[in-house]
Amino acid sequence: MLKISRMKLLLTLRPALSNSAAAAPLSLYFHSQASVLLHTTTNIKPLKNPNVLPTLSVINSLSNYSKPADSCQSRGFCTEVGRSGEIHVIVGPMFAGKTTTLLKRMKLESSNGRSVAIIKSNKDTRYGLDSIVTHDGEKLPCFPLADLSSFREKMGAEAYDKLEVIGIDEAQFFEDLYDFCSKAADLDGKTVIIAGLDGDYLRRSFGSVLDVIPIADSVTKLTAQCEVCGKRAFFTLRKTDETKTEVIAGAEVYMPVCRKHYVSGQVVKEATMAVLESQNRRISSIL
Ligand SMILES: [Zn+2]
Repeated sequence: MLKISRMKLLLTLRPALSNSAAAAPLSLYFHSQASVLLHTTTNIKPLKNPNVLPTLSVINSLSNYSKPADSCQSRGFCTEVGRSGEIHVIVGPMFAGKTTTLLKRMKLESSNGRSVAIIKSNKDTRYGLDSIVTHDGEKLPCFPLADLSSFREKMGAEAYDKLEVIGIDEAQFFEDLYDFCSKAADLDGKTVIIAGLDGDYLRRSFGSVLDVIPIADSVTKLTAQCEVCGKRAFFTLRKTDETKTEVIAGAEVYMPVCRKHYVSGQVVKEATMAVLESQNRRISSIL
């Protein structure tokens, strides 16, 4: 819980803009134009006017970088041991639309007749364990797991063999992410799409998400909208003084921020903590 004095300081950071509905189209736009780190198979053209972004065109663009595995024949990827798999990584700060993008992609694959399944960490129980819900309320059933190695057994070997596309949400929570993705794509011919935080609240690499980049077909970094100034947000600022890396929470604890406001936000937090500590010391010396 924030103490009142600290909340006052943090309130000075509150923006005119919220991080809710307005953030998604912006982040999708930046995905399509500027924040794509690696796109080995895409052909996304910049949009002339980001304010009139047609969401469908972005979804279609997203679909272009993963054609059904059967198309590997035309690309010469197929080997005698089976179809070629693919790995696609979606990263970004909180509230950047990662889960929304993952769900759209999975729905698209499903509507193309491919068999799909979604895995999420059983650590995140904010919206129930058997479904995956975006910050804007969209919902799909999923497998809540502690680790990815148990997925084949949980799903059943026969069902796993028929599965074509595997979505993994909150991928930063899975320690065995690299091993699972490489086996699923390299040996089992699956298309694996993962969404997760690339950095934690201190902007350090979070979990194993970045480890997967060397074996990925594409990496997409989405952006959110800075809660302070409304510009593109690349980072997640934790508003509390909790120092554990994993604190699963939403907008009550985290806010997306641009570089400038990440730095100033950390300064405000540190100054606030110093003031509180000194006040506590004074109070305890009086008592
Ligand atoms: Zn900002």
